[in-house]
Amino acid sequence: MAEVGELYEKKINCPVCGKEFKTSKVRLSKLRLVKRDSDFLPYYEGENPVFYGVFVCPHCGYAALEENFNKINFQGRETIKKEVSSKWNERSFLGKRTIEESIAAYKLALFCGELLEDKNYELGNICVRLGWLNRLKEDEDEEERFLSLARELFSNAYYNEPLNNESMNPLTAAYLIGEISRRMGDRDEAIKWFNTVLKDPEIKSNIALEKMVREQWQVVKEE
Ligand SMILES: [Zn+2]
Repeated sequence: MAEVGELYEKKINCPVCGKEFKTSKVRLSKLRLVKRDSDFLPYYEGENPVFYGVFVCPHCGYAALEENFNKINFQGRETIKKEVSSKWNERSFLGKRTIEESIAAYKLALFCGELLEDKNYELGNICVRLGWLNRLKEDEDEEERFLSLARELFSNAYYNEPLNNESMNPLTAAYLIGEISRRMGDRDEAIKWFNTVLKDPEIKSNIALEKMVREQWQVVKEE
């Protein structure tokens, strides 16, 4: 059960339909990180903010990661109205989200992101979270399906997109491709990508990541 007061409601103006709605968020002051998996899935005592990382407008069905929610242009608004809103039945994601509700929210964000032709790394960020949520749900097939999609999207992004922004950088993308490969038993790919990270001089400015890569490189060598 969620501790009372762990969640709060935030008012959002939908950039597609223009209506106001509320979404739930976890209070930062209540966050207690317990641990992180090697692909960054964070575990918390109580509510996990990953569950609330997608905003869904209950009126028109537009959904996106919080940090991308307002980044939609005129053309994108028209696309969402035509392809999503016209078929949308009013549904609210307000309040405590179950894993299933959270997965549904991320799937909507993925659907909208694909329609809007978002960048590969943005779609990859949604897919890796769908992988995490399915891990928490203990659905291994779905976890692997979404991590595999994330790996493909991050590979495309690594070679084709400028990756120096707040939600992704080339070294983190390369590390994630390697780590997802390791989890999927693709040992050669894992080693190739871990080496890519370790050979990059930029890694010296990210000690925490360098430590993770060296650890996972060791793990894959021993597997
Ligand atoms: Zn809306």
